[in-house]
Amino acid sequence: MNKIVIAIDGYSGCGKSSTAKAVAKDLGYTYIDTGAMYRAATLHFLNNYLSPANPHDVEKALKTLDISFHLNPESQLQETYLNGLHVDDEIRTMRVTSKVSEIAAVPAVRKDLVAQQQRLAKKKGVVMDGRDVGSVVFPEAELKIFMSANLNTRAERRQAELLEKGEMVPLEDIKSNLAERDRIDSTRSEGPLIKVADAIEIDTSHITFAEQVGQIVQKAREIIEKESSYAGKH
Ligand code: C5P
Repeated sequence: MNKIVIAIDGYSGCGKSSTAKAVAKDLGYTYIDTGAMYRAATLHFLNNYLSPANPHDVEKALKTLDISFHLNPESQLQETYLNGLHVDDEIRTMRVTSKVSEIAAVPAVRKDLVAQQQRLAKKKGVVMDGRDVGSVVFPEAELKIFMSANLNTRAERRQAELLEKGEMVPLEDIKSNLAERDRIDSTRSEGPLIKVADAIEIDTSHITFAEQVGQIVQKAREIIEKESSYAGKH
């Protein structure tokens, strides 16, 4: 069977990561969370008191930044490492979340991380979620999904996720963070969040998680079959 690249882009907090993870598991593909990479880069800036507005600081940050993903053999979960440390919990706190769009808007940061993402997906067989995967990282992706959901639904889901991890954040704060990240992500000059013409839009406000995963997996299987039978004939 031919392997494809699946790009899942969309607004903050629509469940892209959990959907992409489930799609990857179903297809036996590798999941790449590009948001985790921008979050890890943000934590690196914060921990080292580096400013995204200072070109020397940006250069220093990128020179000393090492992000990698490792599969935990016990939990079978993919974990994010920043300079050798497991940072999945820390990169999803509000401390990092409130700064990440500012760091992700720096062109040199995007250039560096996009190049890494392209290397990670070179062999295909990947599901990658983010904001610019279908437009910049992998414009040739065989399947592109654009996920959306209304702001209230997104904020309620995010609040429940944070509560589960023991962080209580008022709904209004989460709503304004999501809206602000969407604004910065959609209006930046490099790799802005856009729905490309060949992306399939899925509004997850009123469908279940299983339905959204099912729709993407079905579409992916159709494309994989078509690509494989074409390759068999040529
Ligand atoms: O997907 P997640 O919400 O974890 O992403 C965190 C932030 O990283 C986004 O708000 C956005 O600013 C940035 N991001 C990006 N491009 C990507 C993925 C994430 O700019 N491909």
